[in-house]
Amino acid sequence: MDRSRPGSDAGCDLLNWTQDRLRAFLVGAGHKPVHAEAIRGALHRRFVTAIPEMVEVPARVRQSLIASGIGIGVPEVAREDSSVDGSTRKFLLRFADGQVVETVLMRYKGRATACVSTQAGCAMGCVFCATGQAGFRRQLTAGEIISQVLHVARTLSWEGCRLRNLVLMGQGEPLHNYYAVMQAVEAVIHEKGLALAAERVTLSTVGLVPGILRLAAERRPMSLAVSLHAATDEERAALVPVARRWPLAELMEACRHFTRSTGREIFFEWTLIEGVNDGPDQAAKLVELLRHQSAHVNLIPLNPTAGFSGSPTGLVRARAFQEVLRSGGIVSTVRQRRGIDIAAGCGQLASAGT
Ligand code: SAH
Ligand code: SF4
Repeated sequence: MDRSRPGSDAGCDLLNWTQDRLRAFLVGAGHKPVHAEAIRGALHRRFVTAIPEMVEVPARVRQSLIASGIGIGVPEVAREDSSVDGSTRKFLLRFADGQVVETVLMRYKGRATACVSTQAGCAMGCVFCATGQAGFRRQLTAGEIISQVLHVARTLSWEGCRLRNLVLMGQGEPLHNYYAVMQAVEAVIHEKGLALAAERVTLSTVGLVPGILRLAAERRPMSLAVSLHAATDEERAALVPVARRWPLAELMEACRHFTRSTGREIFFEWTLIEGVNDGPDQAAKLVELLRHQSAHVNLIPLNPTAGFSGSPTGLVRARAFQEVLRSGGIVSTVRQRRGIDIAAGCGQLASAGT
């Protein structure tokens, strides 16, 4: 089996179909293409989980879909955990071929955010990340990415709440699965669907330069976060192996290009590891690196993972790091540590294979 390919029934998953493909199907089956909008509404606004539930779609259209063997790829909830403080819920979702990924719902100060996976596992091998330690299993289809967003939105809807924020920060490197990720983002920002605001969709990348340039060329309206963790190539390569392929000079040029093309400030992520990348000299180098870049830095104290022995930077040292950034004119935030008790924090997602 080619494990880099999505599940074999990807073509039978309605969530995996673009509206163009759906319209073509409808016309081919002798229906009006306009029914595609009602189908989108049923899926993305009412979160139906089976075709017979699409009461807004004429019965004969539903019949055609069912007769063609098409279904809605709703993953099974294999496990669900809630953090003690109630702010974070982690779902282990199982797709049709048995592959599992983790999806997280975070609620903080009235803000609900879905954190979804873009791949099962990850090929990038960052040393401090549980997903990277476990390796790559397979790409997710657009439908599988969308199904995670819909799962969170559906869960919130039962409480009368609406999903407004999406971060592509679960398992996987989104720019290593570019087409599927873009198709999924297009679907969830569509005004007649879930209608998430594009700037409230944040794609986080380890720094794949061709992908960043492509986002800029296509003027993708989403927010971009770039994981830096170090301000010299040597220090970065020790944490993030792909840094050898795309050195910081190239990465920062791509980031500047993205900002010029889209007008968007970039979020830079820096996992704070005690004694490794949290000193004032390293903060000063980061200031230097971001000199010509409109940026906001997110500092994330390391979350524990089985395969990495480093410790998180304490608050006092994190504040000192932040102070160097501030005096260099750079705004930063120390990210709240949430969901650690259920291993739902950044870099802790590592669901096993099948
Ligand atoms: N692959 C993408 C997105 C997923 S990881 C990326 O690397 O950006 C999301 C964020 O969690 C990244 O900034 C990543 O560096 C960070 N992260 C990974 N492992 C972590 C850990 N153990 N503790 C804290 N942050 C971690
Ligand atoms: Fe992959 Fe991101 Fe983890 Fe690196 S930090 S291994 S890119 S998920």
